[in-house]
Amino acid sequence: MAPFEILLVPAMSDNYVYLAHDSDSGVTAVVDPSEAAPVEAALDARGWTLTHILNTHHHHDHTGGNERLAKRFGATLIGPKSEVARIANMNITVGEGDTVDVAGHKAVVYETPGHTLGHIAFWFADSDALFCGDTLFALGCGRVFEGTMEQMWNSMLKLRSVPPTARVFCGHEYTLANARFALSIDPDNVRLQARTREFEEMRGRGEPTIPTVLVDELDTNPFFRADDPALAAAIGMTGADPVAVFAEVRSRKDKF
Ligand code: ZN
Ligand code: FE
Repeated sequence: MAPFEILLVPAMSDNYVYLAHDSDSGVTAVVDPSEAAPVEAALDARGWTLTHILNTHHHHDHTGGNERLAKRFGATLIGPKSEVARIANMNITVGEGDTVDVAGHKAVVYETPGHTLGHIAFWFADSDALFCGDTLFALGCGRVFEGTMEQMWNSMLKLRSVPPTARVFCGHEYTLANARFALSIDPDNVRLQARTREFEEMRGRGEPTIPTVLVDELDTNPFFRADDPALAAAIGMTGADPVAVFAEVRSRKDKF
């Protein structure tokens, strides 16, 4: 089976919605449709029919298009079981270690609490695609709204364990702002400097910076490096617990 063809659909001000299409079966899934209109336009332009809707978490900018898309296409809505009270009309609910099967393309589900308590990520190994919503961003991570810093750090560790070739399809184009923050705490990181230049050029050409590849996040994304002694040293926390380092970096970003 060929991997999914994945199409990035910009929506709202800085959201990315993804279409995952299988040309053999004609199946098309959408991930986190913040609104229906741009998704319908992308589907109609290609003659694709929506069959599945995947949600990573309950926020409106990830679920706002569910109702209209489900109604028009009769698509199966799949989302986090811990958010069953917050996402209407889910047909299938999933949690840690469950498998989602989209026309034979299988995703492993990770629970990644922190941004919301029930947040999940979908890892489609056959397509090298990690749909991580607002947990992990290019050079950043989501705000910790509902969970604890310890939960969010454990979610980072979980996503860090996904194969390094994974393409990271996250919920927003926040990359340049994240890069500026990352450089503020880690200014001598040569790899980070190089990635930042590359992202600035991409944005200058009007291109999305997404997907990034997981391996590139490992040594440049500060939220992935809370257990790296060099990062702890850079923020004056040598020897501190990774949860404390993560919490400090996250709170500095909140104020940045
Ligand atoms: Zn969110
Ligand atoms: Fe969001």
